[in-house]
Amino acid sequence: MKPSDLSKIDKFTCCELCGAIHLHTTYSDGGVNYRELIEASRSLKLDYIIVTDHMNLGGLDNGFEGRYGNLSVIVGYEHNDRRNLNHYLAIGCKQVFSKIKKPRDYISAIKNGGGIGFLAHPNEKRHYFGHLPPYPWTDWKVSGYDGIEIWNQMSDWMENLKSWFSIFRLMYPRRFIGTVPPELLQRWDQLNKTHFVSGIGGVDAHTRRIGKKPFSLVVFPIKVELKGIRTHLYLDNPLSNDFCVAKKTIIDSLRDGRGFISNYRRGDAHGTKIFIEYSNGLVALPGKQSCETELPGVIHVSIPESGRISLIHNSIEVEVRYGNKATFPIIKQGVYRIEVHRESKAWIYSNPFPVGKYPIR
Ligand SMILES: [Zn+2]
Ligand SMILES: [Zn+2]
Repeated sequence: MKPSDLSKIDKFTCCELCGAIHLHTTYSDGGVNYRELIEASRSLKLDYIIVTDHMNLGGLDNGFEGRYGNLSVIVGYEHNDRRNLNHYLAIGCKQVFSKIKKPRDYISAIKNGGGIGFLAHPNEKRHYFGHLPPYPWTDWKVSGYDGIEIWNQMSDWMENLKSWFSIFRLMYPRRFIGTVPPELLQRWDQLNKTHFVSGIGGVDAHTRRIGKKPFSLVVFPIKVELKGIRTHLYLDNPLSNDFCVAKKTIIDSLRDGRGFISNYRRGDAHGTKIFIEYSNGLVALPGKQSCETELPGVIHVSIPESGRISLIHNSIEVEVRYGNKATFPIIKQGVYRIEVHRESKAWIYSNPFPVGKYPIR
């Protein structure tokens, strides 16, 4: 197949779900309750949300998990260690392992409890606020986690906030969401050379009020928060109407990295198609399954609006196209990803295509 042949994109038949992950409610330090969160999510036509309050499953215990029209609400929680570092998003387990304080132990407890987990805001840096310190991941010797929260909306916004008096940042917070730190992308690519590590985007929605009424401001009202970082998933079939089946499908897809992350502020990425086609005719989505294939191949990209589409090979940008369609010939093994930028800021990050047998060179 010639690299310029775009016909495959039209035959791409997967269903796509778009959701928001890492949301806090009044069960921990969030500013909205479940009813407000669900109403906002439904009005924005999200397909799923994943709530992760700190060290509690209040939403699950009080019956908020389930289906609300087309919206699936899944309740996980955010675990932290004794020093309030190494935050971990646990999704799909039915209990909080509150007594377990070592990252490697809570990673395995959550896995044994039937859940999956993602290292949360691992590269968080905050330079300017003593009372709001960063909460990075520090214990990189651990293993057994399923993925990494590659893009955290709140960390991204806070990192360059120099003062609460940065009025434009407070008034138009989404305008300032930039890109994933390059060192985190490099680490992610490096990890993917030995085993699959999924990537998700997180909102880390807190909907906090700054100052005291009447001179106060909610920087990210919930509807604004939900119009930022989103995680899109490709499914082989439409999502089941049975919530238990739907929940399992969403969790499995997150674990296997079947999709991409977008920032809605740069454009609605719904309808984006990213896949690889191999010489033996097999077509694979981004994520875990793309390994079992035969070179050469072609990565196809189709996006709803024009952008700067780049092919990343082992952390290096090797090709760039401008527009809304692109094909990239793949002739050697490696960890490949697609990134799309608009207005000099990141719009889309695909999950990796690990091409070749582990360990991939
Ligand atoms: Zn956190
Ligand atoms: Zn959080």
